[in-house]
Amino acid sequence: MAKRDYYEVLGLSKGASQDEIKRAYRQLAKKYHPDINKEPGAEEKFKEINEAYDTLSDEQKKARYDQFGFDDPMGGGAGGGFGGFGGGFSGFGGFEDIFSSFFGGGSRNQHGPRQGADVEKTMTISFEDAVYGCKKKIRLTVDDECTSCGGTGAYSKNDIKTCPKCKGQGRVYVRQQTIFGQSTVQTTCPDCGGTGKTITRKCDACGGKGRIRRTKDVEVNIPAGIDTGMTLRMAGCGEAGVHGGAPGDLFITFTVTPHKNFIREGSDIILNVPISFTQAALGDSIEVPTIDSPVVLKIPAGTQSETRFRLRGKGTKNPKSSSSSRGDQYVIVHVETPTNLTSEEKDLLEKLGNVEKKEKKSPWEKFKKLFQ
Ligand SMILES: [Zn+2]
Ligand SMILES: [Zn+2]
Repeated sequence: MAKRDYYEVLGLSKGASQDEIKRAYRQLAKKYHPDINKEPGAEEKFKEINEAYDTLSDEQKKARYDQFGFDDPMGGGAGGGFGGFGGGFSGFGGFEDIFSSFFGGGSRNQHGPRQGADVEKTMTISFEDAVYGCKKKIRLTVDDECTSCGGTGAYSKNDIKTCPKCKGQGRVYVRQQTIFGQSTVQTTCPDCGGTGKTITRKCDACGGKGRIRRTKDVEVNIPAGIDTGMTLRMAGCGEAGVHGGAPGDLFITFTVTPHKNFIREGSDIILNVPISFTQAALGDSIEVPTIDSPVVLKIPAGTQSETRFRLRGKGTKNPKSSSSSRGDQYVIVHVETPTNLTSEEKDLLEKLGNVEKKEKKSPWEKFKKLFQ
């Protein structure tokens, strides 16, 4: 099924304000919330609404979506390795939010599973590291899973008991005044937060939180071809989840320091090369550096200054593409006018000048004719 435009999903037009987006989302989320709407397809619709809201409610994501739509070059590509801030339904966190706003619960359940927060970092790497790809360590101080209890928050396995309030079901029935009138609703068990378990003795190391603040080094596999402004998503490397919730993701945005000669243009590389007037006029073979080994480039006779030569496949890989194909290198030759001539060079050039005058074939002579 083709993805529907996020604005269309929320029944809005492009350029809708954050207020309008929020209002439309709340209305639709109420209508299609799976706890309320049992019609087939409601859950799918609800997810679609959440995904649209996830992107449009975030100024940064919204700006990218407005610019690129679903073809966002940074969007979550296949395999998810290289992601960025592209959309994607971010788990069931949204359910709880809406649930509490509906049923006046207000406070979010303190015991329920919650997804760990995403962590955003920046990293500066050299031109070479970016071009060839590399492994780097990044230091994070995050709430990490407690190793003593494995994140359960319990002193031992035997201290995890079935919740007496919900008898392990994780849900209880309560009578409540709701926006739909007085009714009996099924809600998350307040004692265990839906896990169906309670802890009789808490883990000493984390005090039952299941998480500990820790500084750790994470190894980052930087794909070849990464460029300034690109963001790498490392799923599950963010903060640890709470009470069995999934961990958040780590997002690293890169800055690549420029090379003194090679210039990146996406997956292409530009190299400016000076050549002499005689090389340009008579032709020559020159050895030009590439990010691999040097390559012999044939300069044909009569080459003009600023001519671009393409060295196919000598650019960088595209980290957003699964293909191993590479961009190209462009060599731009700049013809330099000779200076500090020796007397021999001067003699030869004067001879050339005289021939050109006689033949009336210098560019200047041709130009003059246009005005005669
Ligand atoms: Zn319970
Ligand atoms: Zn612990």
